[in-house]
Amino acid sequence: MTVPVHLLLFDIDGTLIEPRGAGRVALRSAMLDVYGQTGPIDDHDFRGKTDPWIVRDLLRCCGWADEEIDARLNEVWEPYLRHLDDALEAAATRPTPCRGVPALLDRLSADGRYELALLTGNVEEGATRKLRAAGISRFDVGAFGSDSEHRADLPPIAVARAARRTGLSFRVEEAIVVGDTPEDVLCARANHARVLAVATGGFDADDLRSHEPDGVLEDLADSDSVMEALEDVIAGTQEVR
Ligand SMILES: [Mg+2]
Repeated sequence: MTVPVHLLLFDIDGTLIEPRGAGRVALRSAMLDVYGQTGPIDDHDFRGKTDPWIVRDLLRCCGWADEEIDARLNEVWEPYLRHLDDALEAAATRPTPCRGVPALLDRLSADGRYELALLTGNVEEGATRKLRAAGISRFDVGAFGSDSEHRADLPPIAVARAARRTGLSFRVEEAIVVGDTPEDVLCARANHARVLAVATGGFDADDLRSHEPDGVLEDLADSDSVMEALEDVIAGTQEVR
C-alpha cells in the first residue's frame, strides 16, 4: 500500500522568513524610479497581499486609474529586483528564517508523507532571492504573485506545478496552505484547501482563529508540534487550537 503524500503550500514573508523590510525598501526605490511616486508606502500593510496587488493599491492612492496601472504595472519588476538585491545584502534588511524553520524544512523534506511547494504573493524571482538570502533552499516549485495578482488564483497553479514536477496526483482540496495572514486562510478557503495558520507575521493567534483555519500555531519553532498540527489538519480535525 502506498502512503498518501500531502502537499504543503508555504507562504514566505512572516511564515518562512522574517522579511525585515527588504521588499518595502526595494519597492519604494523601484516605484520612485519608474512612476516618480510611491503613495503611502511606509504605512501600507503588505501582509498577505501579492506584489502586483500592493503596487496597484499604492498607485490607486496616487490617483491612477486601473487602465493606467494595467498599462505600466510590469515596468516596476526589473528595477524592483535590482533594488531587492541591494536590500537583501544590507545588514539592516537582510531576511532571516523564522525560528525553527530550517530544521522543520529538513524534517519535512526527509519525510516521505510530504511534498513542499511555495504559495506566495512575491513575484517568482523576488521569492527565490529572498529565500536564498535567508539560507532556505528546499523549494523548487510554487505559485507566485507573478502568476496572478489574486492570491486565490494561486493554489491550483501551485498544485498543478507540484504534480508535474513530482509525477504525483495532488488535489487542491487536499493541499495544506501554511501561512501567517487572514489572506492565506481566505485563499485556501476559496479553493476548499486546508490551512494551518501561524502567528509569526503580526496577526496573533486569535486574529487568525477568527478566520477559521483548520489549525493555528503560535510559531513553527517546535517541529514536533508542527508535525502534530499537520496530522490533525489532515485528519480533518476541525478543532481550532
Ligand atoms: Mg505572509
